[in-house]
Amino acid sequence: TQAQIGVTGLAVMGANLARNLARHGHVVAVHNRSLSRTTKLVEEHGDEGTFVACETPEEFVAALERPRRVLIMVKAGAPTDAVIEEFAPLLEPGDMLVDGGNAHFLDTRRREAALRERGIHFVGAGVSGGEEGALLGPSIMPGGSKESYAALGPLFEDIAAKVDGVPCCTHIGPDGAGHFVKMVHNGIEYADMQLIAEAYDLLRQGAGLEPSRLADVFDEWNRGELSSYLIEITAEVLRQVDASTGGPLVDVIADRAEQKGTGRWTVQIALDLGVPVSGIAEAVFARSVSGHADLREAARGLPGPTPVPDRTLGDDFVEDVRRALYASKIIAYAQGFDQIRAGSAEYGWDVDPGALATIWRGGCIIRAVFLDRIREAYEESTPPVTLLTAPIFVEALGLAQDSWRRVVAKAAELGIPVPGFSTALAYYDSLRAERLPAALIQGQRDFFGAHTYQRTDREGAFHTLWSGDRSEVGA
Ligand code: NDP
Repeated sequence: TQAQIGVTGLAVMGANLARNLARHGHVVAVHNRSLSRTTKLVEEHGDEGTFVACETPEEFVAALERPRRVLIMVKAGAPTDAVIEEFAPLLEPGDMLVDGGNAHFLDTRRREAALRERGIHFVGAGVSGGEEGALLGPSIMPGGSKESYAALGPLFEDIAAKVDGVPCCTHIGPDGAGHFVKMVHNGIEYADMQLIAEAYDLLRQGAGLEPSRLADVFDEWNRGELSSYLIEITAEVLRQVDASTGGPLVDVIADRAEQKGTGRWTVQIALDLGVPVSGIAEAVFARSVSGHADLREAARGLPGPTPVPDRTLGDDFVEDVRRALYASKIIAYAQGFDQIRAGSAEYGWDVDPGALATIWRGGCIIRAVFLDRIREAYEESTPPVTLLTAPIFVEALGLAQDSWRRVVAKAAELGIPVPGFSTALAYYDSLRAERLPAALIQGQRDFFGAHTYQRTDREGAFHTLWSGDRSEVGA
C-alpha cells in the first residue's frame, strides 16, 4: 500500500502527529534522520494504525502516493532548510512539502517562492496544542496555495481538534500566512499567561490568598467567561504540592520565565507593521525582566512599599481582579487580531479573522470560550474596526472598567507590578480619549527638528518659526 502522507522528523511533535494520522486510518510513511526514533515509534505504537517505516529519504518518497504529501516536523531554522534541500530534489511538480515547525513566516515566504519555481507546493503550517494536541487534536493553520489545501485540508481537518463538530483547521492564506498567524497566536499566548500571572500575584501578595485557595478561585473562574485551557492549567499548577518541601510547587520554581522566540518575533513584526501590541510587548518584556538576575539583584533594596497582604481585601477584590483580567484579555486579543489584519493587508493574504477565531476555539494553547465571542464579533454584518467596539465587548468592558481601574490603582499602591493590566488599561483609555497629548509631541518635534504639524482647523502642514519671531508658516 502507498502511504497517503509521510512525516519526517519524529521527535515529540512529529511522532504524535504521525500517530494521530494513523489512528484516523491514514497510511503514514515515517522517517527520521536518526533511525532510532523511527524504530521506536513503530515498535511502541505500530498497533495504532498503518505505518511504513523508512530508513532513507528515497525509500520514504517512494512509499508515498502521488501527488506526494510530506510533513516536515524538525527543529525550526537551519535544520528545516537542510531537510527541504534533502527532500525537494526527490519530489515532482505538484507534490506538497509541509513545514509544521515553528518557522518564521519570512523564512516560509522565502522557501515557498523558491519551491514554487520548482513546481512544488510548499505549505507553512502553524501547529498548536503541544505534545498532547498533536496526538489528540491540534489546531492547524496551513498557509500555501489553495490547490495544496484541497489535497491536504481533508487530512488535516480529520486529525484536528473539533469544536461543535467544526474542525480547528482552515486554509489561512497564501505563502507565510499560516506561520504568521501561528506567531501571533503565540504572542497572544504570552500576553494571556502574563495577565493570569499578574492576577495570581495580586491575589497572593495583595490579598494573601494561599495557592491552594487560589487554585479553587481559578477553577471557579474557569466556569465563567474566562473559561480556557490556560486558566484550567493555572489551577492545576497552583494546586501542585512539591514532594521534597511539602509546600506549594509554585513557591520552589525559579521565577525566571524563559522564551523560545515566537513572542519576540510577534513584537518585532508588530513594530515593523506599526501595530500597537502593547499587551504582547509587555508580556515579552516581563519575561525578560524576570530573567535579568543582575538588574533585579542590583535593584532589590530600592525604596517602595513591600507588599504586605491586606487581609481586608475579600471576595470583592477577587471579583475586581477577575474583571480586570477579562478586560485586559480583551485588549490583548484585540491587539493580536489587529496585527493579523495588518499583516494580511501588507502581504495580501486576505486572512479571515472570524475563521481564525473559529479554529482557535479548540486544540491550541489559547483555546477558550472567549474565542467564540470573537468569532461572533467578526460575524456581525459590519465587522468591527477593533474588537473593542464589538457590542459584546463594549458591554464587557463597561462592566469591568471600574474594577479594572481599582485593581491597577491598588497594585500601584501596594507596589505589585502589573505591566499587563496597566498597559491594557492605558491602551483602552488612549483609544477612548477625545484628545491625546500627541499634539504636544508634534509641537516638540516641530520645535527641535522642524518636522511640521497638522492643524485641527485647516488642511496642510505647518511650522512655527521657533527660533525666529514664532509666527506660523505653511510648510
Ligand atoms: P525538536 O524541535 O526538538 O526537533 C527535533 C527533531 O528535529 C528530531 O527529529 C531531529 O532529528 C530533527 N532534526 C534536527 N536537526 C536536523 C537536521 N539538520 N536534519 C534532519 N533532522 C533534524 O522537535 P519537536 O517535536 O519538539 O518540534 C518539532 C517542530 O515543531 C519544531 O519546529 C517546533 O518548534 C515545532 N513545534 C513544537 C511544539 C512543542 O510543543 N514541542 C508545538 C508546536 C510546534 P534527530 O532525531 O535525528 O536528531
